[in-house]
Amino acid sequence: MAGWSAAAAADGGAVPVELADALAGLARADSLLIALDFDGTLAPFVDLPAEARATPQAKAAIRRLRAVPRTTVAYISGRPVASLARVTEAQPAELLVGSHGVELRLDGARTEVELDPEERRLLAALDAELAAIVQENPGVHLERKPAGLGLHTRLIPSADAAAVIAEARAAAEALGTGITARGGKDIVEFAVRGATKGDGVRRLREHVGASAVLFAGDDVTDEDGFLALEPRDVGIKVGDGDTAAGYRVSDPLALAAALDILADLRT
Ligand SMILES: [Mg+2]
Repeated sequence: MAGWSAAAAADGGAVPVELADALAGLARADSLLIALDFDGTLAPFVDLPAEARATPQAKAAIRRLRAVPRTTVAYISGRPVASLARVTEAQPAELLVGSHGVELRLDGARTEVELDPEERRLLAALDAELAAIVQENPGVHLERKPAGLGLHTRLIPSADAAAVIAEARAAAEALGTGITARGGKDIVEFAVRGATKGDGVRRLREHVGASAVLFAGDDVTDEDGFLALEPRDVGIKVGDGDTAAGYRVSDPLALAAALDILADLRT
């Protein structure tokens, strides 16, 4: 398989040679931040989000990386921090960015999200609208987050999902400006505060004092993270779709193989 690393292929995921070269550069960084999306990046998608777990290969690679000096692993997700902490099985000291950058848990200290009165009003109004849509569409699930709401449509047929999402977007628009909508895989998410995963990457970089960053993600919301990267950093898109990332792997197993290579190079 020309263009793919044979060593990584033995682990079940193929890592492009150009990415392996970039990881070698990253491995020499003075202080390295490895910021990872969770769903679809470390963990395969499952019907029940609470049951998602990173692949054993990803867990093993992350464990190795966490043991390396001047190396920090963090998670950046659209999930609320509380949910992210459960599915990653993160230790209290691990760095978590939840709700697309709205919530941060840095070194065990939870940063509360304080909404202003207008944000609270908008959130309550949208909650009522979306709850009504959920009532009428069995199988659609409403996820409540500190500064937003997520409408999950994975369990209903895609034609129905498109109609539900259109209805939800229209309801949000009718409430006026101040609500941002993001489409994702089988989900539409609304936020009353405009933080992104790019803000998450920037906050983590500053917190860690990282001289280089690896960021990996699979979904459209991860593009903000890729756009926050600097020349020395490495962005890895997992799976298909347009991306601003410099590198791409096919699936979570291939990303785990890349993390394993990085652990080899940095140990
Ligand atoms: Mg994801």
